[in-house]
Amino acid sequence: MRLKTNTTDVLIIGAGASGLMCAATAGYRGRKVWVLDHAPKAAAKIRISGGGKCNFTNQVVTPNEFICQNPHFVKSALARYQPQDFIDLVDRHGLEYEERELGKLFCCHRAGDLIHILKTECDWAGVTLQLKTSVKSIAKLTPKTPDEAAFRIETNECFIECQSLVIATGALSFPKLKASNFGYQVAEQFGLRQVPVRPGLVPLTLKGKWRDFCQKLSGIALDVKISTYNEQTEKSFEEALLFTHQGISGPGVLQISNYWQPGQAIEINLLPNVDVLAELMQLKQSNASLIRWLQQFWTKKFTQAWLEMYPIATKLADLPNEEIERFAQQITHWILYPSDTAGYDKAEVTLGGVDTDEVSSKNFEVKNVPGLYFIGEVLDVTGHLGGYNFQWAWSSGFAAGQTV
Ligand SMILES: Cc1cc2nc3c(=O)[nH]c(=O)nc-3n(C[C@H](O)[C@H](O)[C@H](O)COP(=O)(O)OP(=O)(O)OC[C@H]3O[C@@H](n4cnc5c(N)ncnc54)[C@H](O)[C@@H]3O)c2cc1C
Repeated sequence: MRLKTNTTDVLIIGAGASGLMCAATAGYRGRKVWVLDHAPKAAAKIRISGGGKCNFTNQVVTPNEFICQNPHFVKSALARYQPQDFIDLVDRHGLEYEERELGKLFCCHRAGDLIHILKTECDWAGVTLQLKTSVKSIAKLTPKTPDEAAFRIETNECFIECQSLVIATGALSFPKLKASNFGYQVAEQFGLRQVPVRPGLVPLTLKGKWRDFCQKLSGIALDVKISTYNEQTEKSFEEALLFTHQGISGPGVLQISNYWQPGQAIEINLLPNVDVLAELMQLKQSNASLIRWLQQFWTKKFTQAWLEMYPIATKLADLPNEEIERFAQQITHWILYPSDTAGYDKAEVTLGGVDTDEVSSKNFEVKNVPGLYFIGEVLDVTGHLGGYNFQWAWSSGFAAGQTV
């Protein structure tokens, strides 16, 4: 059977956060926009993000919250579409949202409300959304005028010719939500450089006695300072750590996972806001109970487990200062060597991706392939935890949408 050929001004592959934002923006400019996605529903990641409430942006977004080989790359798009622009958009639709710690904004009810807003915007902008459609091939044409098609795409249903082709297919995290390496394959087809990928914002796993320790404490959370060091970076976050059956998770651990490399240690200060040594020395003087002191900060279960790992005579008055110093050091400089990350199945994002030197930071067009654009997470741009990854999707989608 001969497949029909359709034409559109803009074809966007990927109906996720960045693709829908790009589609609505281009549609409002009067461009004929078609969005394709192989998944049965649009924007699956928005639906499950932020525990079902989607942390859709942050009150304060600066380039420092992003990891990219070129740290200047994110500046232009973030400046042109800021958190307030997205807040204004959701306000126009009457979305109820709330601010949580560290400026994070979440939906009050369901993340699905946000998908509804994006799809409504696409409807109003005249965008065609087609799901359950896979792309078989992309061919570059040689248009003689800007009005002629620059790409011919073959799907399982038809051919589509377009002037601008936007790759918004995201990255590898959460394959069960139809994440794929499609964007990287397209980059390879057009000879674009790529930064090696690895899971980010991901729990860390442990082996041996520390795995048993974590397993036993699974479900317990502590406010800690967590750090990692290598020759280039020294990074710390003060956020919660959560013990799991395989190791450690929680916001602080997810944040540090973006900087941790296999083989490296992480250092955890279990009482970052306490002068531990000074207080232990006072306890020694006053002959007060160490266990009672620890249990001001920790649960009984964690205190017991810690003292099993790092035994100390509970009558500090009988101990030499060096032993108290060692105990304080163990609490404030707890060193762990994670064996691995929990992988793409559990990672919120993918570090690395299409090298940002290959695309314009203004509109995300590939420098050597006019008409081809990459936006969102497929690029080598990863935000910290806190709504920054969605803000990147909105900002990059908007910037490309103004040009495509
Ligand atoms: C569990 C989880 C929780 C998260 N929570 C947050 C949060 O609260 N705040 C935050 O800022 N970020 C969060 N993130 C990260 C955020 O979801 C992503 O950074 C963001 O969705 C990236 O947008 P994107 O448009 O680049 O890709 P996506 O939103 O992933 O969209 C990509 C789209 O492309 C489609 N696609 C993929 N391959 C193909 C193909 N071959 N053909 C056709 N279509 C294809 C997919 O089906 C998908 O619809 C979370 C991620 C996960 C996994």
